[in-house]
Amino acid sequence: MFGLGMPELLVIFLIALIIFGAGKLPHIGSSLGTAIREFKKSIDAPPKEATPSPPDQILCSQCRRPVQKDWLACPHCGLKLEAKPGA
Ligand SMILES: [Zn+2]
Repeated sequence: MFGLGMPELLVIFLIALIIFGAGKLPHIGSSLGTAIREFKKSIDAPPKEATPSPPDQILCSQCRRPVQKDWLACPHCGLKLEAKPGA
């Protein structure tokens, strides 16, 4: 790609060798590999699904149907729900 053949890559490699020095090249390569690996991992991993927040519901003590915590009365049977402060 980019019209680069083996000779051009070799020249680029040699320039990199001169700039960074032979000692640093393996480190650069490994850190580059790690970065690519992390990038691929983040792509492959399924997106973390937001854990569904627990439904803000309780069961009516009389008809056992779900009612919202902050409701004052059960809409199904009309039972007055007790407010539970701090619950
Ligand atoms: Zn009820």
